[in-house]
This record gives sequence, C-alpha cells and structure tokens, in this order.
Amino acid sequence: MRPDVTLDGAALRANASAFAALGAPVAAVVKDDGYGWGARLLVRELDAVVESYVVADEDELAALRPATRKPVRLLLDAAPGRLERVLALGGIPNVSSRGALAEAAGAAAARGALTIRVGVLDAAGWASIAPSDAAAFAEATAATGLAVELWTHVVSPERSGTILDAFMAARRSFEGAGVRIVSTDAASTASSRRGLAFDRLRIGIGLFGARLGASVDNRCALRVTAPVVRTFAPGEAGWAGYGHVRVRADRSVAVLRCGYGDGFPKNLADGVDILSVGMQYTARVMHEGVDPRVLIGASDDVDTLAARSSVTPHELVVGLASR
Ligand SMILES: *Cc1c(COP(=O)(O)O)cnc(C)c1O
Repeated sequence: MRPDVTLDGAALRANASAFAALGAPVAAVVKDDGYGWGARLLVRELDAVVESYVVADEDELAALRPATRKPVRLLLDAAPGRLERVLALGGIPNVSSRGALAEAAGAAAARGALTIRVGVLDAAGWASIAPSDAAAFAEATAATGLAVELWTHVVSPERSGTILDAFMAARRSFEGAGVRIVSTDAASTASSRRGLAFDRLRIGIGLFGARLGASVDNRCALRVTAPVVRTFAPGEAGWAGYGHVRVRADRSVAVLRCGYGDGFPKNLADGVDILSVGMQYTARVMHEGVDPRVLIGASDDVDTLAARSSVTPHELVVGLASR
C-alpha cells in the first residue's frame, strides 16, 4: 500500500504554454533525469508544446534521444574525444574551453557548418566562460567559423543586472568579432519575464508549477494521493503520532500511508490540519467535503508548499520523485 505520487500531464503542458506566453518558446530543462521524475516521462507529456530540451551531458542526451526528435541542448562541454558522439545523437554542444573550441572547429571543418552554445557568466560553475574572457573567446570563435547560440544564467536575482550587462557586452564582442550568433537565451524560471525572453526560455521547475517570483500563470502539477489506513472518531485520539501535538476532542483524524520517506516533507505538519508526518504516514484532520487522501493537488501552490517545508521548490520536486 503506497501513496500515488504523479504529475498531471495537462498541468505540465499548460505550464509550458504559460511561460511561452511571455514571448518565446520553451526549452524544457530535463536535467538530472527530469528533476528525478524521468526525462522520458516529461518528454511524453511535453513534446507537442515545447521547442527543445536541455540536459546536462552526453549520457542524459543518449537517454532522452529515443523519446524525441526535437533539438536537445547540452549544459556541459562534451568530454574530450566525445563531441562526435554528441553530434551523432543530435545534441547542440556547449563549449566553454579552448580545447572544446578546437574540437568543435575540427568537427565544423569536416561537416561544413556547426552551431555551438557558449555561456557567459561570472559565477563558479561548470560550463560558461568568464565575462572577462569574452572578447578573446569571441576572436578565437570567429577564427573557427562556428555559429553560436549565446546564453547566460541569472543565478541570483540580486545580481541580475550585473549578469545581464556582462552578457550583453559579451554579445557585442561576439558580434564585433564577426561571429554569427544564431540565437540568445538567458532566462530560467525565476528570471522569466517578457523583456528577458530573447529567443527561448529555459524552464525546469516552472513546469512543475513553481514561479520563484516570476509573473507567470502556471499551476501545481504535483499530485500526491495516499490511502487512508485508519480513521479516529472525535475524541478517540488524544495525541497525534510522534511529537507533542494534541488532537482537539471535536476532530476526526485520518492516518494516511505517505510520509517523508515518500518525499512528503516533515515540515508540512502544521499541527492544525496536517497534525504529524512520519516516515511512512501522515495524520491529518478530516473536514466535511474535503477528500482526506489528497495531500498535494491542483489547488496547491508549489512555492508555498516549498516555503512551508523550508526547502526550495527544486528540492521539494526532486524529493517527491519516485526512488
Ligand atoms: C537548471 C537550469 C535551468 C532551469 O532552471 P529552473 O530554475 O529549474 O527553471 C536553466 N538554465 C540552466 C543553465 C540550468 O542549469
């Protein structure tokens, strides 16, 4: 007897469309096996409505490719000697080092043309060039004849101005060097807005319903429903599960087979409606007309659930993915 932890496909699609309404198509970010939910499951639900996908590396690309014919963009450079494999799988490769650039130049010479992705960011990370290196990297790229998709990642709302200014300066360097820039993308869920949509939005957590402050009309795609294993009539239970939570004498209590072992955060226990969350069970107050089995449903808000759980929406969503 286990909880039913699923995604609502219609909500996922509606969420992709809600972001696209900001003015650019959505590249669904399905790294880490679709935030733990299965990249291929997300592709099955989203393939008709998204422009492309974003994965971390060659392994994730290989796992995804049988499920879709759409473009797949990589966050990481191909490992040395692995670029041909990435290209054979139809991946758009990322390049953030002179070595990877040289390998891409070789592949472009053999093929006639090639588009690479170049990220510009001042933060420690794994796949971008520093803004201070942009002019020199642009010159080196121009010498190869490679076409470029230029991207950045707004990793901090407080520093978004700095990050975007550096990005636009880098774009001028690439243009000035004569590099053909085929597209530009900058925004993830938190930074999504009309003025930042550029040629595509890279959306991960927003597909599940989180907004992270962005003005987007999306909704919760998570569904957690658990079987009731026991009910207590009013007055029958004095205390709720573990911990020091007294059950009011006028309350009925349902015990559900779902707990933090299933990714339902322990902190969602508020002592009022959700009385107690254990590893495999949750005790909650029953209300007239409310289905006690639905722990997370269409009317919930992902950002609010995450805040109440003291985790980020990403951690909430990854934690609920089946293990
Ligand atoms: C993970 C990631 C995204 C998606 O971020 P969300 O907050 O889940 O929308 C976008 N771009 C890059 C570079 C990423 O690493």
